[in-house]
Amino acid sequence: MSKNKKGKLFVVTGPSGVGKGTILADFFKNNKNGVFYSVSMTTRKPRPAEKNGVDYIFVSKDEFLKAVQNDEFLEWAEYSGNLYGTNKNTVFEKLNAGINVILEIETQGAKKIMAKFPDCITIFIVPPSIEELESRLRGRNTESEEAVQKRMNAVREELKMLDKYQYNILNDELQSACCKLQSVYEYEINHEE
Ligand code: ADP
Ligand code: 5GP
Repeated sequence: MSKNKKGKLFVVTGPSGVGKGTILADFFKNNKNGVFYSVSMTTRKPRPAEKNGVDYIFVSKDEFLKAVQNDEFLEWAEYSGNLYGTNKNTVFEKLNAGINVILEIETQGAKKIMAKFPDCITIFIVPPSIEELESRLRGRNTESEEAVQKRMNAVREELKMLDKYQYNILNDELQSACCKLQSVYEYEINHEE
């Protein structure tokens, strides 16, 4: 890789519970060098297994809004009653250092990134069905009934955007979805415009 070659920006999106986190955990197990997961800031409360600074930077609403005022975000959005945002400086630092960056964000944020970075690579993870999606979300056992309802209410709108993304990966059989993400990644990092 030449010294001034920039990293590529990947956006992984899709409805809550579709398996984005699971697929990316597998991806990062197999890809340790040259690629960076952008840890977002959120006002959502941490789930029992989540670690501050690893899964998210967990902050109060005031802290988040201060970061908005200070122009710290590349994009941010309200989703299901909580605020989520991508740190601008970190992403630019990595891309400028030739490191590829992966954002795992919801669809409003993905739209903003696509407008700002026309060359970003967008991947939408598709559920096998809405019923299976709801069953996964409930099976994860991390959301209250109200939060499950809010997340499910967003799904039909999110699925309408399917054809706006460069890649759709169906997450039916997990290993097959993981292999597809790996193939997309390898193709894109070896492919020059
Ligand atoms: P997201 O990050 O998109 O919200 P998760 O990765 O947390 O979704 O996955 C939601 C739930 O679905 C988890 O309990 C996960 O283990 C499960 N899951 C993910 N992919 C599959 C799959 N292909 N088949 C069955 N269950 C899956
Ligand atoms: P969760 O609460 O399940 O962790 O995340 C809810 C949704 O917010 C998921 O679709 C996740 O991808 C998305 N998300 C996480 N971080 C960000 C971010 O920085 N910006 C945006 N727009 N969405 C995010």
